[in-house]
Amino acid sequence: MTKPITGPLASRGGRVYLDHNATTPLKPAVKAAMVQAMDLVGNPSSVHAFGRTARRAVDEARAGVAALVGVKPAQVLFTGSGTEANNLALRGFSGRTVLVSAIEHDSALAAAPSAAGHDARRLPVRPDGTADLAALERMLADSGPALLSLMLANNETGVIQPVAEAAVLAHAHGALLHCDAVQAAGRLAFSFGALGADLMTLSAHKLGGPAGVGALVLAEGLEPDALIRGGGQERRKRAGTENLLGIVGFGAAARLALEERSAAADLAALRDRLEREALAAVPQARVMGASAARVANTSCLVLPGVPGETQVMGLDLAGVAVSAGSACSSGKVKPSHVLAAMGEDATAASSAIRVSLGWTSDDEAVDRFLAAWTSVARRSGRA
Ligand code: PLP
Repeated sequence: MTKPITGPLASRGGRVYLDHNATTPLKPAVKAAMVQAMDLVGNPSSVHAFGRTARRAVDEARAGVAALVGVKPAQVLFTGSGTEANNLALRGFSGRTVLVSAIEHDSALAAAPSAAGHDARRLPVRPDGTADLAALERMLADSGPALLSLMLANNETGVIQPVAEAAVLAHAHGALLHCDAVQAAGRLAFSFGALGADLMTLSAHKLGGPAGVGALVLAEGLEPDALIRGGGQERRKRAGTENLLGIVGFGAAARLALEERSAAADLAALRDRLEREALAAVPQARVMGASAARVANTSCLVLPGVPGETQVMGLDLAGVAVSAGSACSSGKVKPSHVLAAMGEDATAASSAIRVSLGWTSDDEAVDRFLAAWTSVARRSGRA
């Protein structure tokens, strides 16, 4: 088991990292596997001994990722990110209407091919943050052959979605189900088969692996159209010489995540203390999605009237790193589309921060957060 670490990684220069849903620090054993892989010379497509050794490393990694979600290695296609896997899934079946839940990650919302003349439709969520299955049934009945994209754990609130139930409904209407499990992998026990998914997105950097490598898991026999064409890599579904280091890191992270799944669930006690003490210190604050089942590491706190950006900056000055609402790649913060979809008004949707714990988190990190956040709230006249 990876122990919570103290010292330079956990608190770089006295800083505390509570933004594991944005990206997780690389686990030391993953780094070691990647450093070893740096000595591999061959292209996995080459037939000589160097190439075969590189191919073996890719195959081992594929088996590690497959084991994490309970599929055969041949069902795993490596991609350049979770974003790319979402695009491959949602752009890969041109005859189907793409339905997406309103709380999907931007990469799924943007990939749904409405601009290309297809009909992308948004599945609403209920106030607790879970997908509205009655609405889904109506949408499926109206949509003809469809592909539904529903994530397993939401990146902002941590709310777990009724994916298995949605898959039953989807299949009853001849639809396929794509599940973005980027924020759930390594944090929840689940399998591709038990969820009834036809396609599933994973990303290495949310589970202690490197950024820049993801996977699309496919039901046997399902063949999406390739997005990136060229060589025959990844069964012609994703051309381009494999990112060997990234893939090796992904495989190592997946194997560790499988071994350490109970440690991930243990984060619930830490997260629950954080929320209990935060609400006791700042009674005006609210926890979003608290009435639904949530992944154990995520807390979305709203401090009404205090912009999430202000909270993030105040916390950063105190050496504590969290995210505000949905952070865009530009670094600008926009009101959360997730909270808006849950029926929260614009003030609440702009006043949220996301605190996300992970393998480097401990009680001391939570204490540091609580002290810093309470003082931000006090300065804003909220505590
Ligand atoms: N899906 C979800 C739910 C995410 O949280 C993220 C990243 O934040 C992604 C997809 C995109 O993954 P990547 O960063 O590998 O492109």
